[in-house]
Amino acid sequence: MTSRRDFLQKAGLSTLAVSLPFTDALSAMNLEREDKVLRVAIMGLGSYGTRVAEAMKDCKRAKLVGVISGTPSKIETWKQKYGIPAKNCYTYENYHQIKDNPDIDAVYVITPNSLHKPHSIGVAKAGKHVICEKPMALNAEEGREMVAACKAAGVHLLVGYRMHFEAKTLEVVRRQRAGEFGKTLFFQGLSGFMIGDPTQWRLNRELAGGGSMMDIGVYSINGARYMLGEEPIWVTAQEVKTDPVKFKQGVDETITFQMGFPSGAVASCLSTYSMNNLDKFFLNGTKGFAEMQPSTGYGPIQARTNQGPIEAQHITHQTTQMDEMAALILDGKKPLIPVDGEEGLKDLVIIDAIYEAARTGARISLI
Ligand code: NAD
Repeated sequence: MTSRRDFLQKAGLSTLAVSLPFTDALSAMNLEREDKVLRVAIMGLGSYGTRVAEAMKDCKRAKLVGVISGTPSKIETWKQKYGIPAKNCYTYENYHQIKDNPDIDAVYVITPNSLHKPHSIGVAKAGKHVICEKPMALNAEEGREMVAACKAAGVHLLVGYRMHFEAKTLEVVRRQRAGEFGKTLFFQGLSGFMIGDPTQWRLNRELAGGGSMMDIGVYSINGARYMLGEEPIWVTAQEVKTDPVKFKQGVDETITFQMGFPSGAVASCLSTYSMNNLDKFFLNGTKGFAEMQPSTGYGPIQARTNQGPIEAQHITHQTTQMDEMAALILDGKKPLIPVDGEEGLKDLVIIDAIYEAARTGARISLI
């Protein structure tokens, strides 16, 4: 049996704490835990970087303390707005010096997709934990390099999968794992929106690595995996293009795709940049169903099952995500749905296979 002294020592309490009465020592431990905050620098001060910074104002375990940007005027604004000290501000040219900055624990990479790999590897080499936006990279090969670099540097690699911490999503997943829907044999994922400005980086193959699949289709891929609780063994896919001027070679406008799972379950999904009102998950089992709409937008998420609506308080997704990621890095907490580099890599393997299936018309095996 673990003695009180062993327990306290394992919990990382000092000898001083051991000399305290047991309950005081436990409160000291909680205090110590709560005092530990993940100090984060954001790299890429664009639209999503700004959303994350605003959400982090309400975080208890994560704090925005630094920035990396190529635009001096943005750095000035962020310094004022978020109280960031000049010594924690870097450019894309000098951010490697972050290794000598003991006041930054992690960097959140929120730059265009093609920069995720070089930026994440640069951060890892500087000895800082990496939080990287989705899609983690342009393809599985890049993803593997990122996982290896972070492992070699001894730092965490986490992917910005905010839905993995969203309360209604977690409740549906919990019920699926508990067998409440019976054997789940069908998932439908609809992910899309009408994209505007044709000159934006999302429609530039070099920066985006593709089109709607890289940006929004990835939610249906990822959602199929966490809602069914299995990994696909094959994919098929079909591409449709109505506007080849806006959606150039290598930039997918619309892709429908299917995935098969070991249990016999199938997923039928749509990824598009040409239609709105597409943010829906449907999971069907032998005993019941779950429907989420919106399913992955910024919320509030709506979810219902054959038993009725799922109620849960809406909290800004990025606030929960950053607090939970801090607990993951600082306390070794394990999330119900993983958010690590291996998880990001699984989606990249599937994206590669979907593009190959769309190109060749073949059913692509994933095993
Ligand atoms: P954005 O265009 O608004 O911001 C991108 C930032 O990167 C800008 O500040 C830009 O200056 C900077 N940048 C650095 N080098 C650049 C270069 N060579 N070319 C262009 N920009 C460069 O884009 P965004 O919407 O903030 O998306 C950034 C990342 O965040 C993408 O990977 C995207 O998929 C991801 N994202 C995730 C979510 C989510 O809900 N998880 C939502 C939106 C975006």
